[in-house]
Amino acid sequence: DGDGPPPLSPLQKLTTDMCKDEKTIKELIIGRRVGFYKVRGEIGYGTFSRVKLAFHALTRDKVALKILDRTRMDPQAQRLLSREIGSMEALQHPNVVRLYEVVETPCRLYLVLEYAGGGDLHNRICSEGKLCDTACKITFAQILAAIKYMHGINIIHRDLKAENILFTCSGCVKVADFGFSTQVSNRSAALDTFCGSPPYAAPELFRDECYLGPQVDVWAMGVLLFFMVTGTMPFRAETMGKLRRCIMDCAYSVPPWVPGPCQRLIRGILKAAPAERCAVDQMLGCDWLLPVEFPWSPLAARPLGPLRGPPESERGSLEDEE
Ligand code: ATP
Repeated sequence: DGDGPPPLSPLQKLTTDMCKDEKTIKELIIGRRVGFYKVRGEIGYGTFSRVKLAFHALTRDKVALKILDRTRMDPQAQRLLSREIGSMEALQHPNVVRLYEVVETPCRLYLVLEYAGGGDLHNRICSEGKLCDTACKITFAQILAAIKYMHGINIIHRDLKAENILFTCSGCVKVADFGFSTQVSNRSAALDTFCGSPPYAAPELFRDECYLGPQVDVWAMGVLLFFMVTGTMPFRAETMGKLRRCIMDCAYSVPPWVPGPCQRLIRGILKAAPAERCAVDQMLGCDWLLPVEFPWSPLAARPLGPLRGPPESERGSLEDEE
């Protein structure tokens, strides 16, 4: 979208300066240790990354260590990574994965992330078939709270999908993967890059025209809600061309057994014209969500950080370490 990489934060500058000194690098990355973190088992892989479980040596808090090999990254991947770091540094919300620290060496970049050990929404739906009504409401409300916060500070995620919605071991939702996110200078700024996963892509992304960022996230929320409630995707096709047509025609049908208020919400979100889609505040106040008593307030900010200490369930035990 034309905006360059964001400036380095004081923490990045500090680690970059530290890493210019060879001796410091050796002290930072010693064997299975990165900075203050002791590296343990593998969590998963991305295109350019490996994600490992790690423990803070003093507090024993678990973190997810995303390890990126810079030598394998082309300029486009490096640009996306800068955006991911820039967005994550700006975001502090109980329903967004926190970036605690960036450790940099000449070949590698280590992102120290809040650990979400409860799996992702895609796997959960696949193993449970679909989510029950209460689980849908609690999950959806937390994603909405994260989106409301992000959009409030002009960050658009652009890759909302079930694989990027993680859970902590205690079931709290954490929106992850800000690789396609962008920070717009004002809410009416137009974007023109196709981002994200096609089954979640809004119709305007398939038209050769500029689009307003927040509405593509709103559309993806509609696809996510449909997927959570029914266990199937609203737009499915054997070829990309057919999928594109389905989405542009807004050709989906909500099964009749879906509760009426939820059906109305899905139809209010999945509208071809971006301006007609429900606003995030309308969704938060809709009939379907309101009767739910949340175990915690989805909008209350709860400061989290390795030194402050997450709940006991997110901490490492002595047995984990050996
Ligand atoms: P790609 O980079 O190709 O889009 P990706 O986004 O899945 O792939 P990563 O973000 O590197 O790649 O994540 C790889 C795996 O690690 C995924 O399975 C993801 O669920 C898991 N993961 C990522 N961040 C965390 C985290 N903070 N806590 C727990 N697991 C995580």
